[in-house]
Amino acid sequence: MNYLSTRGHPDRKRFCEILLEGLAPDGGLYLPEQYPQIDTATLAKWRKLPYAELAFEILSLYIDDIPPADLKAICAKTYTAEVFGTDEIVPLRELEDGVYLEALSNGPTLAFKDMAMQLLGNLFEYELARRGAELNILGATSGDTGSAAEYAMRGKKGVRVFMTSPDGRMSPFQQAQMFSLQDANIHNIAITGVFDDCQDIVKAVSNDLAFKRKYRIGTVNSINWARLLAQVVYYFAGYFQATASNDKPVSFTVPSGNFGNVCAGHVARMMGLPIHTLVVATNENDVLDEFFRTGVYRVRGAVDTHETSSPSMDISKASNFERFVFDLVGRDPARLRKLFVDDLGLNGSFDLSADPAFAQAAGRFGFRSGRSTHADRLATIRDTDKRFATLVDPHTADGLKAAREQLTPGVPMVVLETALPIKFAATLVEALGEEPARPKKFEGIEALPKRVVKLPADAEAVKAYIAEHCD
Ligand SMILES: *Cc1c(COP(=O)(O)O)cnc(C)c1O
Repeated sequence: MNYLSTRGHPDRKRFCEILLEGLAPDGGLYLPEQYPQIDTATLAKWRKLPYAELAFEILSLYIDDIPPADLKAICAKTYTAEVFGTDEIVPLRELEDGVYLEALSNGPTLAFKDMAMQLLGNLFEYELARRGAELNILGATSGDTGSAAEYAMRGKKGVRVFMTSPDGRMSPFQQAQMFSLQDANIHNIAITGVFDDCQDIVKAVSNDLAFKRKYRIGTVNSINWARLLAQVVYYFAGYFQATASNDKPVSFTVPSGNFGNVCAGHVARMMGLPIHTLVVATNENDVLDEFFRTGVYRVRGAVDTHETSSPSMDISKASNFERFVFDLVGRDPARLRKLFVDDLGLNGSFDLSADPAFAQAAGRFGFRSGRSTHADRLATIRDTDKRFATLVDPHTADGLKAAREQLTPGVPMVVLETALPIKFAATLVEALGEEPARPKKFEGIEALPKRVVKLPADAEAVKAYIAEHCD
């Protein structure tokens, strides 16, 4: 399997070459040259497989530069009941007639990002050992991504993590999750400033090419193809649990921010998994809902990006969206460049409303969308508690609301549960008047010793810290 760039760069790469990279050299995103097609006999065989073996089968179609026995061992080591809480790994439960929740949030940090990040940690360790290389991951987080990365990379050979976060701005639970890690290769850096300051620091350090090369700086952001690929697996696992045979269609609703999660659903559908509809659920930051309703993609500025009670969906532009649009415009890199380089660069938006391709988003590709507000989230959390004695987090609540607006009679609707409610306790308290129960392993974590340094919002200070902790 070879990988190409959405923007038309002539080079083709193998999986392990793009594993440790971010963007393609021309600024595009990597995609496989074609999507492997799954026939009904293969689907029938896969239906019976445990999750780790299913992951191996799917990954094998996209990864041909890791020996199968090694890849199989990596999958087996990643997707265990010990790490993800159950043998099913992503258990499905029916909430009401035809509406299901797929639990993706029982990994170490209680959000779905663990599903991909845990695999990435093991792939990184494997590939770095094979190359005899080291990597220093520098990131900025306001919560979910940073903790998922730290729990995936802790104790891994060849990898260090330097994670910046805005001092005092994460929830006490999220701070405790990250800062209580005592592993020598994990470095928490609390920046006196806001999240944007942290992101600016990461950019400034990455733009210092000499520093970047000398200290082998890398990232683990959501455009990484390996993360997306890992997420394809749970669409298959969810499909098998929601159906008794492989001729039945299933729809999925996905609480969305950077379009990574739902893009994995798109890939599963392109491979031939019988997915009826993919519903993109957004909050007040509705750039994606606007596109699927109108054909206009308009990225937002900082002032138009709202801080909401589903903060992991608070995005101004969706970094994986280019992958879907590439397929939408018939994989034509010239058209893609016009949209993402010329139009977005010049006007901050592009308009496909009059283009025949736009009709295909809903038609051929099965996309729908929805939007929720804070009031919707509170109402959904209360309603789900009252009618089904089930607590959902605010992101999953956004999903449930959008899902109910897009039901097709006779087609199961699977809503992806992207976090557990305890991670967003303040909103649960606002909705229900009490804190959700917390899993045993997180009891009392706020009282654990904290491992964190405080630095000013200054890239030079962060560089000095990295240099000092790299030998
Ligand atoms: C990251 C995240 C999302 C958004 O996922 P994307 O892949 O960026 O679309 C939704 N919910 C939660 C809880 C998250 O952590």
